[in-house]
Amino acid sequence: NERLASVDPEVANAVDAELHRQQNTLEMIASENFAPQSVLEAQGSVLTNKYAEGYPGKRYYGGCEHVDVIERLAIDRVKQLFGASYANVQPHSGAQANAAAMFALLKPGDTILGLDLANGGHLTHGMRLNFSGKLYNVVPYRVREDDHLVDMDEVARLARENKPQVIIAGWSAYPRQLDFKRFREIADEVGAYLMVDMAHFAGLVAAGLHPNPVPHAHVVTTTTHKTLGGPRAGVILSSDEELGKKFNSAVFPGQQGGPLEHVIAGKAVAFKLAAGEEFADRQRRTLEGARIIADRLQAADAKAAGVQIVSGGTDVHLVLVDLRDSELDGQQAEDRMHEVGITVNRNAVPNDPRPPMVTSGLRIGTSALATRGFAAEDFAEIAEIIATALHSEFDESVSKKLRGRVEALAAKHPLYPNL
Ligand code: PLP
Repeated sequence: NERLASVDPEVANAVDAELHRQQNTLEMIASENFAPQSVLEAQGSVLTNKYAEGYPGKRYYGGCEHVDVIERLAIDRVKQLFGASYANVQPHSGAQANAAAMFALLKPGDTILGLDLANGGHLTHGMRLNFSGKLYNVVPYRVREDDHLVDMDEVARLARENKPQVIIAGWSAYPRQLDFKRFREIADEVGAYLMVDMAHFAGLVAAGLHPNPVPHAHVVTTTTHKTLGGPRAGVILSSDEELGKKFNSAVFPGQQGGPLEHVIAGKAVAFKLAAGEEFADRQRRTLEGARIIADRLQAADAKAAGVQIVSGGTDVHLVLVDLRDSELDGQQAEDRMHEVGITVNRNAVPNDPRPPMVTSGLRIGTSALATRGFAAEDFAEIAEIIATALHSEFDESVSKKLRGRVEALAAKHPLYPNL
């Protein structure tokens, strides 16, 4: 018997335990989702055995006729989905897509303008210890103190002063939409490339529920596993085919060797699904769920417990909870959620007085639960559970009751029933 459970019971048991964790708790980490079984199947296939350095039709290895079919399907589908004329589906992750895009557009020492990590940006947008912070001269822009929105006049001022070669628009923890048109005008004014990292909101874009950055940006990067709900990976898109040649060369041979064709197959499947009505419905429920949670956490009892919502609401799949006035810090709030069976991550809020390992916020996302089938009434119930858990009257008996309500929601929407 060559099955995993026989060959390696230790790994098999941990995989099994993880499946049960996902099934029996409620996943609200904004960057996570549940890949459909069809995607898992593609990823767990014999394609993992195949070397295919190069691109479809131009490989450095024999025997690529079938992976060529798959990679072409993935490219054609993602171009169609986002209205791009160029796509590279080989980046192993979002970080590698960003690294390749920057490698193509920048020389070491060039200047990038990106959203500050502590204000919702991503590591690859210029964090000190990341390749982006080490290779490039980083000028961060921040959100306004009063309304927590990106201040486009400030972006324009910083761009004029610092003349970046690349301006990055995109975020990991920002609950609003960005003005891509204005970003492009600023980039054009100072002679910079505009790179949009839509990793978080790509699924909303695919469903037509969020502005599409592709017509505005020189390059758009994304992950495929967040709102998009596919395998853990990255993609580069552009509407400039000449730049596309540079991105191809930056991915291979610039950054990577052999592409992960089993993951590319998973991406092809995910892009097919993302073009369908069921996917659009899921994204609508995702947005509705986030709004329901943001509204509930702004009710009087939550306010009294020192809970606030960054920017006063949300236009996307996540809510940023500001706990600076609460008795709980981010770590304690994350632990409390964990105790009742909800998985979230603590997150810095703008002007956070606490260190990054503690923080004063929570990032709560609705994508994974929408994938499980959650509708408005379920999100109202989870919002109630979260509000109660963050309240000062929380104790062991409240915790037990909330855990029971979480289990009921999980049972109402079974996950991977066939696994
Ligand atoms: N870009 C953004 C905006 C992200 O939020 C993330 C991940 O959280 C990434 C890139 C990196 O993706 P990965 O973890 O696949 O490298």
